[in-house]
Amino acid sequence: MEKILEVKDLHVTFTTYGGTVQAVRGVDFHLNKGETLAIVGESGCGKSVSSNAIMRLIPSPPGKISKGNILFKGHDLTKLSEKRMRSIRGVDISMIFQDPMTALNPTLTIGTQLKEGLKQHRSVTDQEATRRALEMMELVGIPNPEERMKQYPHQFSGGMRQRIVIAIALICEPELLIADEPTTALDVTIQAQILELFGKIQEVTGVSIILITHDLGVVAKIADRIAVMYAGKIIETGTKREIFYDPQHPYTKGLLNSVPRLDVKEKLKPIEGTPPDLFSPPEGCPFTPRCPFAMEVCNKVYPDSSILSDSHSVNCWLQDDRAKQLLTTMVTN
Ligand code: SF4
Repeated sequence: MEKILEVKDLHVTFTTYGGTVQAVRGVDFHLNKGETLAIVGESGCGKSVSSNAIMRLIPSPPGKISKGNILFKGHDLTKLSEKRMRSIRGVDISMIFQDPMTALNPTLTIGTQLKEGLKQHRSVTDQEATRRALEMMELVGIPNPEERMKQYPHQFSGGMRQRIVIAIALICEPELLIADEPTTALDVTIQAQILELFGKIQEVTGVSIILITHDLGVVAKIADRIAVMYAGKIIETGTKREIFYDPQHPYTKGLLNSVPRLDVKEKLKPIEGTPPDLFSPPEGCPFTPRCPFAMEVCNKVYPDSSILSDSHSVNCWLQDDRAKQLLTTMVTN
């Protein structure tokens, strides 16, 4: 499969008066052409920071990409000038943010906002831009698009506004779409419609999607593969089937146990404790204080990635044959 994006050993830090926050600590993942990768984890785990790093939208200062490479179609985005990045954003790579109300300008008509990016990045006439805007509104399911183009954001419901945001993101036909919690601000019925829309868009346009979410229900609907993040690291990656039916990391299992299911009558089991302080993250596995299976080695050494299949890997000492060996060495020393 052709890889459209490869993120290698990405580190992002934020320097504050209180010290340096290590928000992303050596993240590796890739995205194949035409697939949907979901990056899942609790708030503060580094998933949104990673996606902002791909767009080079880390505010600097206080933030910076301190190490690593982001290869988009073979070009390292970390090395490009800001001018070159501006020509990539919205054209080759687009992003959808959480809240559709703040993503749209309340003083401009929907038509103007739809056509703006197209006119800026492609040499099109107003007539061509209008035709393309109407096409996009139809694709995202806005009824009566000619009339609606003349209206303002406040005349649209939350779900319709998010459809417009998606249309704006797709109007220049990007190859990569990053959706950061795209359904969080919407009510449940509208969430389902927007998720269906992502499926339809991918079928029609073939766009590759990175979906950032804390909601495993969202992931179950549209992801092909899942990367689970914890404390600035990816701790398990696999296909949707591998993560949902054969999770190996205790944190992934904990996340799945805390999702409400109609077929299970038992009480939900929250993951006790809180994530570590990323001002001074632990050297070993960051899940140690919360993990019911933690061993001495976990606290001291971060586990390497154990490859379980072509698509499934996990960073946990429970999957590493060397754990017992290391334990013995530590005892004898
Ligand atoms: Fe638990 Fe150790 Fe695995 Fe971390 S490495 S998840 S502490 S068993």
